[in-house]
Amino acid sequence: MNEKIKFEKYLSERVLKLEESPTFALEKKVDALDSQLKEKGSYVVRFGIGQPDFNTPANIKDAAKQAIDENKTKYTASTGIKELKEAILDKFLRDNGLEYTTSNIVAGNGGKQVLDAIMRTFVNQGDAVLVPRPYWVSYTQQIVLSEGIPLEIDFNENLKIDMAHLRSLIKEHGRKIKLLILNSPGNPTGAVYNIEELREVAQVCLENDIFIISDEVYEKFIFGNSRHISIASLGKDIKDITLTVNAVSKTYAMTGWRIGYVAAHADIIAQMTKIQDQSMSNPCTPAQWAAVEALNGNQDSVEKMRLEYEKRRDYIYKRLNSIKGIKCSLPEGAFYVFPDVSGFYKGNVKNSFDFSSELLEKAYVAVVPGGAFGDDRFVRISYAASMDKIIEGMNRIEKFCKSLI
Ligand code: GLU
Repeated sequence: MNEKIKFEKYLSERVLKLEESPTFALEKKVDALDSQLKEKGSYVVRFGIGQPDFNTPANIKDAAKQAIDENKTKYTASTGIKELKEAILDKFLRDNGLEYTTSNIVAGNGGKQVLDAIMRTFVNQGDAVLVPRPYWVSYTQQIVLSEGIPLEIDFNENLKIDMAHLRSLIKEHGRKIKLLILNSPGNPTGAVYNIEELREVAQVCLENDIFIISDEVYEKFIFGNSRHISIASLGKDIKDITLTVNAVSKTYAMTGWRIGYVAAHADIIAQMTKIQDQSMSNPCTPAQWAAVEALNGNQDSVEKMRLEYEKRRDYIYKRLNSIKGIKCSLPEGAFYVFPDVSGFYKGNVKNSFDFSSELLEKAYVAVVPGGAFGDDRFVRISYAASMDKIIEGMNRIEKFCKSLI
């Protein structure tokens, strides 16, 4: 073909409409800047993409090495090996009080791929999916990829679903709404839903035949008196309409291993399995064995990481609120803070995208603009970074903010 050919006219509307992932786009930019800075003896403080700075625990790495040595390197069932499904069943029972059988489980290539397969399983062209703002960046785009329509729900003063707005969206869009995405502890807010709030959401969904995707990947990182509750554990009827998504990525510092999973009604799983068969074959086999060890093995490393995240949260929250012009609420979980920086919007800095790119270019600190999560007043700071880096990053942010006043 001619070099000047306009490829776009041959490509699908679906892909052309899709936005780039802001977290991954930022990583590319930061990698490039960081290597330039390294030559000058400097570096970027990375508060961007949400991934644990800890290494995968040794027992988990050993299990993967052993699997490779034992030639456990072939195709498996597309939804995962029996041993992994059993480890997942034990986890749901132990941690969430949820009883399932292997016919209720799909293990896939990370929580993200599992979520995408769920969208494809449910969403017809023009179907609506309720997404509470602020939301993780890929939810809305995965809906778009399935040719559905994301319906954004406003949030209340606790950064959680505004129930009156949820009800009015249901009234307006009625049966076009198929799904609601719940994410507690939440990315980017760190907000954790309590039992009364979960009951209210469950009730509304039951009354209106709306299925719930409950993304619980941050369940283990919860602080103070907060407690994680799986919405599916609130009763049989709610369990039947809930797809509980989780992953080993955050809990065990295994982001690159790509193992996530979902538990749902067997009839949903049977249909979703066809998608896994046709699009993914199976999640990486040695990584599945590593995940078996992660879920069944000693859990001490998880508590160690949680304690460290809590210390960091407390520090960063105090530092942020001491900066004139920043307002930040205390997150109860995950490893993000979501400060309101809109007080600095003037001149060149008109929005969260400008604020983040100025902060990166001038102060060498990477954060994700709140606009990417559906609210432009904020930026997201991931504190999955060492305490040294957090102190340095906060010093840089403080100085940068002073320069904007
Ligand atoms: N979930 C992480 C984040 O929000 C990983 C990046 C991504 O998949 O978007 O940063």
